[in-house]
Amino acid sequence: MHNQDQALIFELSTPGRIGYSLPEMDVPELDLEGLLPEGYLRSEEPELPEVSELDIMRHYTALSRRNHGVDSGFYPLGSCTMKYNPKINENVARFNGFAHVHPLQDESSVQGALELLYDLQEHLIEITGMDEVTLQPAAGAHGEWTGLMMIRAYHEANGDLKRTKVIVPDSAHGTNPASATVAGLETITVKSNENGLVDLEDLRRVVGEDTAALMLTNPNTLGLFEENIVEMAEIVHAAGGKLYYDGANLNAVLSKARPGDMGFDVVHLNLHKTFTGPHGGGGPGSGPVGVKADLIPFLPKPVITKRGEEFVFDYDRPQSIGRVKPYYGNFGINVRAYTYIRSMGPDGLKAVTEYAVLNANYMMRRLAEYYDLPFDKHCKHEFVLSGRRQKKLGVRTLDIAKRLLDFGYHPPTIYFPLNVEECIMIEPTETESKETLDSFVDIMIQIAKEAEENPEIVQEAPHTTVVGRMDEATAARKPILKYQKA
Ligand SMILES: *Cc1c(COP(=O)(O)O)cnc(C)c1O
Repeated sequence: MHNQDQALIFELSTPGRIGYSLPEMDVPELDLEGLLPEGYLRSEEPELPEVSELDIMRHYTALSRRNHGVDSGFYPLGSCTMKYNPKINENVARFNGFAHVHPLQDESSVQGALELLYDLQEHLIEITGMDEVTLQPAAGAHGEWTGLMMIRAYHEANGDLKRTKVIVPDSAHGTNPASATVAGLETITVKSNENGLVDLEDLRRVVGEDTAALMLTNPNTLGLFEENIVEMAEIVHAAGGKLYYDGANLNAVLSKARPGDMGFDVVHLNLHKTFTGPHGGGGPGSGPVGVKADLIPFLPKPVITKRGEEFVFDYDRPQSIGRVKPYYGNFGINVRAYTYIRSMGPDGLKAVTEYAVLNANYMMRRLAEYYDLPFDKHCKHEFVLSGRRQKKLGVRTLDIAKRLLDFGYHPPTIYFPLNVEECIMIEPTETESKETLDSFVDIMIQIAKEAEENPEIVQEAPHTTVVGRMDEATAARKPILKYQKA
């Protein structure tokens, strides 16, 4: 196939060709020597592709067509809540008064923007059952780190310097132990029991005078609700630790149960998951953190407050952990989340949860006949299957994921959580129709049958994509991240 899309941008380069036109310079050129420290100046010009505007537009448009996103197809990636991004959010985020404000503007000139942020905080306080919320953190993992830094500061303020351990279940999202480490704390693992829930005996064994916090997501990453959460909170609080709730995916409890009521002291949310901000590709996210009253002094500063009728930034916070993000969070994502919450209303948010849970259970039951179900009980917003039955036929979960690409689906999360063999983790979200769910399930059933009757077709998939099976080990160990001339 001759396809100009296949060429790298460097291969399209023709010396002297340019893709822009600028007016003649009408100011004297500055000699940079002496203005910048030695060594900061380039000794030679960088090698850049030289292409026309049309070439570069076609190149990136072609690349973008190879991408898979929520706007191009079903994206059942577990523990990621890849849901529909309502287009009204985009309209509102583009209002001049929101899109064109500058973060260095005087507070008196951005009262509307500050009111929106303040109001969003109030809604998130209500939704989570917390006492105060910060919108500064830029993503979920950043929120985790911010929350753990506050817990650390709280223990230090109490002279409790020995509290350096964070207890994390073995099914936890990978960012949890990573955030604990970056916050200067140490992770200890608590085991899950045969029902996929935290083992209370093991929790009692690991909790102690060195416990800073228990970090948990509920429902957990297997999609199961931790029924003993109140008892767990008592165990950790009795030992002097705090409870941290990873609320990245709140679709299963939104408007039904609140982390604050379950006994949690700190919670982060992913507005770019549960609250419909677009996400993926490292784009801007928002990971607000809510806290109970005794942690309020440690919130990042500045804090938005209301003085009389005026919204202001309060910098006078002597115990604050400091600023965690330039300016005040990713404003555009916060505008989208606010628009979503206001357009759904309380009843709408309740329906979100009901559909998210119904959709997941519907798919789980339809698939249970063809794939092993490690925990056979009702799930919340997501569920895990095990591909161990197919593995015996020589077809691994990775092969099943690759085969799904042939049908235009983004595969589910695979090999996570780690405590399920050949794990397949599916999160349909509440925004997909029954027809879409059925089509996906039909293909999964077809693949299960192929594994029995014609395993090669699954083992050698994908057959229809631009790039076939990759050497993933080499890609991970020896990544080539820039253009190298052949
Ligand atoms: C996505 C996710 C995170 C991390 O959020 P980022 O915005 O990607 O940093 C943390 N915990 C859980 C359960 C998640 O699903």
